[in-house]
Amino acid sequence: MCRTRATLGGLSAFFLTLLTVTGPTVAAQARPVEPVATVSTQTVPTSYPSYGQQSAQVRAVQNKLIAIGYLAAELNGGSFGPQTRAALIRLQTRYDLSPTGKVGPATMRALDRAVAEATGPRTWYHQEVIGTSSDGRSIKAYRAGVAGKPVVMVVATMHGEENFGQYVAQGLLEGRRISDVDLWVVPVLNPDGLAADRRWLKGGVDLNRNFPDRFIVRANSGPKAASAKETRVVMGFLDRIQPRYLVSWHQPLYGVDTYRVKDPALMNRLATGLRLPKKSLDCHGSCHGTMTGWYNANYRGSAITVEYGSTARSMTTMKGRDADAVLKAVGGRRSS
Ligand SMILES: [Zn+2]
Repeated sequence: MCRTRATLGGLSAFFLTLLTVTGPTVAAQARPVEPVATVSTQTVPTSYPSYGQQSAQVRAVQNKLIAIGYLAAELNGGSFGPQTRAALIRLQTRYDLSPTGKVGPATMRALDRAVAEATGPRTWYHQEVIGTSSDGRSIKAYRAGVAGKPVVMVVATMHGEENFGQYVAQGLLEGRRISDVDLWVVPVLNPDGLAADRRWLKGGVDLNRNFPDRFIVRANSGPKAASAKETRVVMGFLDRIQPRYLVSWHQPLYGVDTYRVKDPALMNRLATGLRLPKKSLDCHGSCHGTMTGWYNANYRGSAITVEYGSTARSMTTMKGRDADAVLKAVGGRRSS
């Protein structure tokens, strides 16, 4: 089931390495930790989830266990089973709590502390809400790197159940400072879908079939192009920043897209750096209404899809190696 899991030691080592490499200068510059993506630290439930339960509350606990690397990212289905219990026992042992595997106030406090400790110094200097979802959730963009350098963008979780890419996004927003690019990151483009662990936007619309490029009406496309609020939000944002490179993260097809590829060099750099095969992700024949198709057809820059598999890579790999690989592929680097 879980391939590899980041150990606490691994995570600590990862961030310690960052501090060691960057030395006291960056440590002194480290700004207050502000968790990004979906890691909420403010949950104060009135009751606590219990073993065997299936609920959104369980998913909230699982998402935090995932964020600290104690649970593989695909195990966020909201069902409180043996793996969730084992991860809780590990957490309780770490914080000298009774290793019951049950959730209570002390365990929740320990979990929030662990999430805060697993979050490195931030790279970003600007955050904005670029729009709201159908259900009123904020869609946030973060800006890192250097203004005036080539604009690049990484976006994840436009399909709400595809939650791995947000951890790559988070890796770009933490650690040593980023240079050589003007980087925008949207960790979660479909926050309603993420909250419900569901692919679709409200009303069963597939965000990645709703763009005005080769649009056709069919199941889940929406009644017309750009009918969904989220589609219009991202179109407006892309038109504003017009990235040279746009990398869109999905799962589970495990590859870097070759279908109608606009910039083969970018594709090759991503495939090599991320250790993913090149694949034609042709939407079962031909793609209609996709974000990358729309962007490639209407702007000078190049958009491309990356797909992780159905099981997650370790948190250290997604936030560390893979975030750095995508950064390098779009022309950025970490300052030394
Ligand atoms: Zn997808």
